[in-house]
Amino acid sequence: MRDDATGGVRVRVGVRTRVLAAVLGVAAIGMLVAGVTSYLVQRERVDASIDDRLAQEVEELREFAVTGIDPETGDAFTTASRFLEVLLERNVPDRNEGLLAMVDGEVAWWPGADVDVQLHEDDEFVAAVAEAGNSTAVRPRTLSTEQLGSLRYVAVPVTGFEDQSQGAYVIAYSRDLEQASVVGAYQTFAMVATASLAVVGAVGWVVASRLLRPISALRDTAQRINDTDLSGRIPVTGSDDVSALARTFNAMLDRLEAAFAGQRDALDDAGHELRTPITIIRGHLELMDSADPADVAEVRSLVLDELDRMHRMVDDLVMLAKAKRPDFVHPRPVELDLLVDDVIDKASALADRQWRVDARGSATVDLDQQRITQALLQLISNAVKFTEPGDTIAVGSQVAGDEVRLWVRDTGTGIAPEDAERIFDRFTRGDVGRGVEGSGLGLAIVRAIAEAHRGRVTVDSRLGGGAVFIISLPLVGADVPDDLVEEEA
Ligand code: ADP
Repeated sequence: MRDDATGGVRVRVGVRTRVLAAVLGVAAIGMLVAGVTSYLVQRERVDASIDDRLAQEVEELREFAVTGIDPETGDAFTTASRFLEVLLERNVPDRNEGLLAMVDGEVAWWPGADVDVQLHEDDEFVAAVAEAGNSTAVRPRTLSTEQLGSLRYVAVPVTGFEDQSQGAYVIAYSRDLEQASVVGAYQTFAMVATASLAVVGAVGWVVASRLLRPISALRDTAQRINDTDLSGRIPVTGSDDVSALARTFNAMLDRLEAAFAGQRDALDDAGHELRTPITIIRGHLELMDSADPADVAEVRSLVLDELDRMHRMVDDLVMLAKAKRPDFVHPRPVELDLLVDDVIDKASALADRQWRVDARGSATVDLDQQRITQALLQLISNAVKFTEPGDTIAVGSQVAGDEVRLWVRDTGTGIAPEDAERIFDRFTRGDVGRGVEGSGLGLAIVRAIAEAHRGRVTVDSRLGGGAVFIISLPLVGADVPDDLVEEEA
């Protein structure tokens, strides 16, 4: 029980109990309907079969009346009493059957002791039959007496003898005894049905518990998880829907854990990197001779430099954090050739280099022009840093297969193969980068911009042989003249 929001109290029923209750309910109703219907049908059949047997015996009686001969005289019968006596001697009552011979309203003959239904002992029955004795209609009737219960019987008038006596031959079946076997069968059915329901319930309980186990594990794990410890995982067994749910949940935890760890690392890195300029500024200020104007001027310019560096670093970090948001890029149709021209225009004023265009893809594709320009200018500013006057810096764009490629090539120092991967990480700088102005965030931002477009950035370089940084983006919303799709670069 628990209080709900409205202040009332309601019972919390587990999923397992509800599933089981539904299954057992449906099964029980099904068995009950099947049992009751077939029981009623069987009861009808019992009555019908009694009537059949009665009809057959009446038929035999008629035949005997026509062809029967008194065995003692060898002649036709002369009295109803003698006719009925011989008839009873010849007839052995069936199971649950009783026979009775009446003459002039009195019980005259009845079968020997070995009979299930002793009609002559039931005065109520005898009286009823004597009363109806005059009726000539031979049809099955039903009568319930205290002693013998419900009886189905026919009373056949036996008349036309020399002595004018009025006889009646009564054949009766006990409905209660006949139906007892049906009732017995259905008692067995009820017991078997109850046992089956118990088995269904037990098996259902075990299966439901097993199926739902991952869900309670999921709940426990979710309860254990907080924002500092995301290490809990649900143990997964089997390959059903519920295990798939557990697997999905674990995968979500993996992603969350990676994201949290990434954030923690980023904060660590940022703190670490920002500490250096702060230490430098503090050291210089402590050692500064405030009476010496030349020293003050030198320290002032150095402090401003360091503050500028910190400012750039903070800007870059903010940009990196923003790049993870889904609304970081706003793709619009952009003409690739104009994009390259625009970038070269902006870059060529940066330094004295041989500025070139490698390729100008003439296609219109969806991308965020501002962000891509920012990424290319970042690559160009790196290229400027690692080249000398007279070196070449080239920009290119093309559509290759289902990709858009944009690149910046230089003929500068190049990159050692072992650095090619890690230079894209935050605050990581290659060997040649040491001693050159920079924060180690430039390529991380380029990668973030490429990934925000669901693309990637790679480098192709040899130490001393220059470098080509390639941004490859999936081709989206492209309007490409067929003959202008270029082959792999
Ligand atoms: P920063 O340039 O601020 O150090 P980046 O992330 O832009 O940081 O670059 C990381 C490192 O990659 C650089 O320190 C340098 O070693 C290497 N690098 C980047 N661009 C080039 C290039 N065009 N030629 C050679 N090395 C490069």
